[in-house]
Amino acid sequence: MTTTMTESIWLNGDIMPLAEARIGVEDRGFQFADGIYEVIRLYNGKPFTLDAHLRRLQKSARDIQLPLPIELADLQNEIAKFLTRAPLRDGMIYLQLTRGSAPRSHAFPQCKPTLLFYVRVLPPIPEPPAAEGVKLLTVPDERWKRCWIKSVALLPNVLAKNQALAAGADEAVFIDNDLVTECSSSNVFAVIGQHLITHPVGSKVLPGITRQVLLELAPKLGLNVDERPFSEEEARRADEIFITSATREISWAARWNDRRVGQGRCGPITLKLHSALRQKIARETA
Ligand code: PMP
Repeated sequence: MTTTMTESIWLNGDIMPLAEARIGVEDRGFQFADGIYEVIRLYNGKPFTLDAHLRRLQKSARDIQLPLPIELADLQNEIAKFLTRAPLRDGMIYLQLTRGSAPRSHAFPQCKPTLLFYVRVLPPIPEPPAAEGVKLLTVPDERWKRCWIKSVALLPNVLAKNQALAAGADEAVFIDNDLVTECSSSNVFAVIGQHLITHPVGSKVLPGITRQVLLELAPKLGLNVDERPFSEEEARRADEIFITSATREISWAARWNDRRVGQGRCGPITLKLHSALRQKIARETA
């Protein structure tokens, strides 16, 4: 798909051009950020780890007391049908669910949720050693304490990301009480020796799907997985640091604030993990 082709959207069961889709001013996603979302990577036109994303959606929905308006199996079918209409090789699915549109009131209304998804082209991710390292900037973690919910209330993340960009960095690393939690739109890992360290998911960390895939691959590569909090000081001494998300896969960190990370190049363990991830992607989206 090129940018000149008309983009479509699936909105509450109807498919229409994205530019023509309309959502009410009183949609609670708009007025209260009362909604959740998912971003799923497409490779070769196939969604990667779709089941895991839909299970996370289900859990986010349950934890904001929002009944899913469709069975997961039916949603999966709708996505599959949509993808055959909008063939696209490398890109993503953006999916959002809000509590719907109703006269503005904090109390939960009786209304139909708004569910939508559409696809968007993404540039292919460069082969790992060729990719440039990312620059990280430390930002205080001032988010709420339910970060396991993939909420559309992303203002703290947006502000943190833009603080990083304004400082010439690429991504903000949240620090909570001197502990490294995650980034504005990615999870963060430290490699020390043969140990892969990342903060546990929960109140301060989103259960990233890419994170989970790597935690399952790591022991098969002979790595020890330490899901534990770690300090900024410990992270600064790490051999390698990398960040993960569905859209970026793995990005190695070249700098953290004003310092170089490790040897200033993509480290061998990051490379090994990325190649194992690539193999899994290739197997599952062939
Ligand atoms: N943490 C945050 C705050 C994010 O927004 C994201 C991206 N959705 C991630 C982690 C990575 O999650 P995933 O691997 O599922 O994309």
